[in-house]
Amino acid sequence: MPVKGRFAPSPSGRMHLGNLFSFLLAWLSVRHEGGSLVLRIEDLDPVRCLPAHAWQLMEDLEWLGLTWDEGGDGASYWQSNRGRLYAGAFARLEERGLTYPCFCSRLQRLNEAPHIHVVSPSCPCAGFTPEEAAAHTAEKAPSYRVRVPRKTVSFVDGLQGPYSQDLATECGDFPIKRADGAWAYQLAVVVDDAAMGVTQVVRGRDLLSSTPRQLWLYEALGLPAPAFYHVPLLLAPDGRRLAKRDADLDIGALRRRYTPGELLGLLAQMAGQQDSPGPVAARALAERFDWAKVPREDITVAPELLQ
Ligand code: GLU
Repeated sequence: MPVKGRFAPSPSGRMHLGNLFSFLLAWLSVRHEGGSLVLRIEDLDPVRCLPAHAWQLMEDLEWLGLTWDEGGDGASYWQSNRGRLYAGAFARLEERGLTYPCFCSRLQRLNEAPHIHVVSPSCPCAGFTPEEAAAHTAEKAPSYRVRVPRKTVSFVDGLQGPYSQDLATECGDFPIKRADGAWAYQLAVVVDDAAMGVTQVVRGRDLLSSTPRQLWLYEALGLPAPAFYHVPLLLAPDGRRLAKRDADLDIGALRRRYTPGELLGLLAQMAGQQDSPGPVAARALAERFDWAKVPREDITVAPELLQ
């Protein structure tokens, strides 16, 4: 079966060098094998995500030569238009008794940051009787969590190797729907990757610890799971992770300093695909792409790049 990868950006700001690094690896891996790519816009959070950022990131990816075959400007590839699918998956979990309403006030905030998860195995709401839950619901709209079993989920990451997590103690019951009705990343990403026929997920290492709960959701929903490759994050020389708010390394600034070939050359060197940072074409890189040369550890960006 031909490999199918994806870009799944959240349009919450301009992309930075770290986003480009992950997208380049996702693109190279798929193109090397002659597969195809989907571009899905992960705009679940109506406050942080703006269509203007989505249009800009498509233009930036095109500038760099990172093409996709499906999605992008098609409205059905924007998560904000896919609520019916998430509701269907939610109903299947609900039928199996796997969801419960949660009235804890911190949940809304946690849901807004999909990369940050606080273990909460002992949410008091898990033990509410239907009557208690109904009484609380009358006062306050609940969020919904999914009840995880006592189970260790193990998988082999294509880059990071074997990884295991005990769902009950290391993850805990996790949110799938916010009190304001917005769907949570963990549910949407599983539903969408399956619905879009994605067979290979290449993304930042910060999402490695989300993968066991996603794998469990695939299983609970009876959906086929893709293969995963979690790639290193890029760090500033002071050790902080590059983030969208650090505009110094956003692609707008980079485009003023480099041609697409020069930027690809810098990224390709960081990705272990060439010894020097010399300019290179995306196609040429794809032909000789080799996962075995990609580093596993986070990469500190050279200080000259930040100036
Ligand atoms: N939308 C997420 C982000 O931009 C990525 C999700 C994923 O790759 O699974 O960080």
